[in-house]
Amino acid sequence: MNVLAVDIGGTHYRVALVNQTGTILSVQRAPVRREAGAAELLQRLLPQILAVSGQAVEPVQAVGIGFGGPVDFRQQRVMRSLHVAGWDGFSFRDWLRPHLDVPLVVDNDGNVGALGEYRFGAGRGSTDMVYYTVSTGVGGGIVLDGQIRRGMHSQAGELGHVPLLPSGPLCTCGARGCLEALCSGPALARQALDLIEGGSCTSILTLRFQEQKTLTARDVFACAHEGDPRAVELLQRARHWFSSAVRAVVRTIDPDTVVVGGGVGTAPGFLDGIEAAVNEHPLLADAPRVAVKAAALGDDSVLLGAAAMAMVLHPPLGAQS
Ligand SMILES: [Zn+2]
Repeated sequence: MNVLAVDIGGTHYRVALVNQTGTILSVQRAPVRREAGAAELLQRLLPQILAVSGQAVEPVQAVGIGFGGPVDFRQQRVMRSLHVAGWDGFSFRDWLRPHLDVPLVVDNDGNVGALGEYRFGAGRGSTDMVYYTVSTGVGGGIVLDGQIRRGMHSQAGELGHVPLLPSGPLCTCGARGCLEALCSGPALARQALDLIEGGSCTSILTLRFQEQKTLTARDVFACAHEGDPRAVELLQRARHWFSSAVRAVVRTIDPDTVVVGGGVGTAPGFLDGIEAAVNEHPLLADAPRVAVKAAALGDDSVLLGAAAMAMVLHPPLGAQS
């Protein structure tokens, strides 16, 4: 069985042909032009979908889409995009049907990435799994017994917006002190800049800033690796917040596995000590431990999750009677 998988992110999108073992048979990638709006992206996406599906030896059975923004799963409509205008209320099903009449399913990329890792990545073999992606933003998804838990309003698994510090920094969602506002790449960079601007930093970080006139999360990790105590401290604090957030979710859901992806989440050292911190609890000393693992699929978790979602729409031919 072949399915078509689409990953629409903030900076680029990809269209792939995927077989039932999760092998990507062919893929096309193109940039997202944020200022051009949804209509322009869809104009480029349609011929790519048709070209990739045209390459299939066996006909494409279904389409799965991971979208970088909130999706009303029950209605199968995009709610909005934080990056590109013109997506509000959009139905991929209505749009694609005249050109390719196969079952289609869309969900937000946090849920879809979670399913990708569950089926084909670091979550393989687990029963109940929680997935985080820590990158420019912090997203995630919850997969229980093979099913993504979406909640009544398609809002479950918004793990980046779990509040940690009521008077903390402003988050992209408008609230204060969310996990995303404390641990995302831009949050780490901003904390480093605050240290320098506050005059309390006379270290390798300051030298980098003077050279580059800016700092990214990558610089914070590199300086910590070089032994800069300020950068080490900054990452320790981020890991403390992250493990607090994960612990709260683990106490609530009791999964067997937590998978962490994204540029920050899989950066060397970020997950150090997180599994021990998450499992720390006097009453649960003898309880089975939850495993905390780095994501295994890299950039492909959303693409393969979209394929996994599409496969559920169309069961393998052998399973049909
Ligand atoms: Zn938030």
